Amino acid sequence: ALTAGIVGLPNVGKSTLFNAITKAGALAANYPFATIDPNVGIVEVPDARLDKLTELVVPKKTVPTSFEFTDIAGIVKGASKGEGLGNKFLSHIRDVDAITQVVRCFVDENITHVAGTIDPIDDIEVINLELILADLESVEKRLAKSSKLIKQKDAEAIIEVPALEKLKAAFEAEMPARSVELTEEEAKAVKGLHLLTQKPMLYVANVAEDEVNDADNNEMVQKVRDYAAKEGAEVIVICARIEEEIAELDDEEKMMFLEELGIDESGLDKLIKASYSLLGLATYFTAGVQEVRAWTFRKGMKAPQCAGVIHSDFEKGFIRAETVSYDDLVEYGSKAAAKEAGRLRLEGKEYVVADGDVMEFLFNV
Ligand code: GDP
Repeated sequence: ALTAGIVGLPNVGKSTLFNAITKAGALAANYPFATIDPNVGIVEVPDARLDKLTELVVPKKTVPTSFEFTDIAGIVKGASKGEGLGNKFLSHIRDVDAITQVVRCFVDENITHVAGTIDPIDDIEVINLELILADLESVEKRLAKSSKLIKQKDAEAIIEVPALEKLKAAFEAEMPARSVELTEEEAKAVKGLHLLTQKPMLYVANVAEDEVNDADNNEMVQKVRDYAAKEGAEVIVICARIEEEIAELDDEEKMMFLEELGIDESGLDKLIKASYSLLGLATYFTAGVQEVRAWTFRKGMKAPQCAGVIHSDFEKGFIRAETVSYDDLVEYGSKAAAKEAGRLRLEGKEYVVADGDVMEFLFNV
């Protein structure tokens, strides 16, 4: 499964946020085969379309799709040089698909800050620099090998070396790999390095309880937003403490609580949605009377691969997929009515599935 790793300096609110994630966590019953790793929190992806489909179809059961966060505690200054448990943490980041960086934007005299003062940009730069230094080391090692091969006119090295040089120059200027423009060939050549700063990054500004509704007046949040804008990254404002409280409420209580706070969506729900789209993920649905269910796929996946998300047999024996868009299904009210109106399509192996498709797969067993 795809996962976003939560990183940040000590005392910024990572554990508080991660607690909120595990408490709000998806019903274990829906994921009987999920490995139970204490550092992994499975969340349900909120999707209003699923509620609407449930209303239309009235199934026995409705199952949302899920998404994982991994808690990667403990990055400190010097991690790339092995400080603290540095290298171990960096290797955990290598395994995640996107990075969620928690940044402290609350002032609380009772909670010390590792650097003594609270400056969110300094904090971000400490973390980002550790990631860049780790990447620089990977690139330099690789470059030492490839430079020898290039002398022997090795075809791969001829593509790889200029790409490595570009990356190295960026890292030396303290810029992430994300900022480097590589050709498709070059990107492929360096993919095996699993560079940390190539992963998409989302910043989470953790604000005080009374500022969650007034983030525009929080100078620290503004600074984070400006910084992220330069990188083309997104910022989500949350109050981790409030999220922890919300996570203990049932749906109705949650709605009332959010209304009291004057917000329409919990920070955690915003974070889940943003992480999901950051990873290039989308949702299709199956909508039978037994079960209405949301499934996650990567944008660009074709119908057989999407069928494989449910079961590998569906992919192997794929024949075609009866498909109707969510909007059409809602407009016509039922699959039969959509069919009558000519909105039900039979899609084959080459069909690129769209977000919101409602699908039924036909396959050979
Ligand atoms: P971590 O070291 O990054 O995992 O940080 P923790 O989640 O353990 O938080 C450090 C301290 O900050 C704890 O005492 C939290 O209760 C507190 N804290 C976390 N989020 C907030 C917040 O939104 N507001 C305030 N006032 N305190 C917070």
